[in-house]
Amino acid sequence: MLTTVKAGPYTISGVSIAGIHTSLLVRELGVLLDAGIALRSLAGAQHVFLSHGHADHLGALVSLLGMRGLMRLPPPRVFLPAEIAANTEQALALLSRVQRHEFSIRSEPMSPGDERALSPSSSVRAFRTHHTGPSLGYQFFQRVPKLKREFSDLPGREIAERRKRGDDLFEIEERHELAYATDTLLRVIDTMPSLLDTRVLILECSFLDERKSIESTHAGGHIHLDELLERADDFQNEAIVLMHFSQMYPPEEVHRTLARRCPKALWERLVVFAPSKGHWPG
Ligand SMILES: [Zn+2]
Ligand SMILES: [Zn+2]
Repeated sequence: MLTTVKAGPYTISGVSIAGIHTSLLVRELGVLLDAGIALRSLAGAQHVFLSHGHADHLGALVSLLGMRGLMRLPPPRVFLPAEIAANTEQALALLSRVQRHEFSIRSEPMSPGDERALSPSSSVRAFRTHHTGPSLGYQFFQRVPKLKREFSDLPGREIAERRKRGDDLFEIEERHELAYATDTLLRVIDTMPSLLDTRVLILECSFLDERKSIESTHAGGHIHLDELLERADDFQNEAIVLMHFSQMYPPEEVHRTLARRCPKALWERLVVFAPSKGHWPG
């Protein structure tokens, strides 16, 4: 049922079909991206990131919380667009009364540009995506000390001595490790340009050929492969994970179409998040 891929240093498991359900677990970061399907192996993530309020991205949250209760896991931190936070919390409160069991979360309402620490070494930043309602993408990054350029030629011993003297030799550099942008127009790469050099970019590509026009793709707030190919040279990522394909394409056709249409330089870095054969799960 699960698709599992390797993208750069990250292992990504889950299911993603446009309009049906999307949930991706990034194991190394311990984060679940969207809660569109409740599977046992996805329920353990302590950090859940909701891109927007559509049912195929948020609808399984309560089932995941139920599984966590069974596993005696603490309430997860749930990051979500600020505009939908109060209603989501109210819905969980009502469902808690229905089930006579508390579905509790640690809600983290987010707006574009907001940052939160996830661990001493890693943080997340929300960014605006362009869909039909309030929606966000998430960029995971590390802040690491880096020797200032003017000191880069100093021998190691002198660096150590200067550090001892208390000289300010380092500046803080951000390393953009992984970003998630789904249910969005492609102009997200212009409004959030650092997506283009984030190490691993998980990006939606709902439609792949002429059976769906670019105009109607845009009306739904999605990306068409045609427009992605026009910008292919802009992507500097180590790996690009394409996901959220329409079920109008059987999984094998998704692989075949992307292999045929993508230029070599893009194809070599592309990770197709779809089963390699057979039907879509479910
Ligand atoms: Zn969707
Ligand atoms: Zn949507």
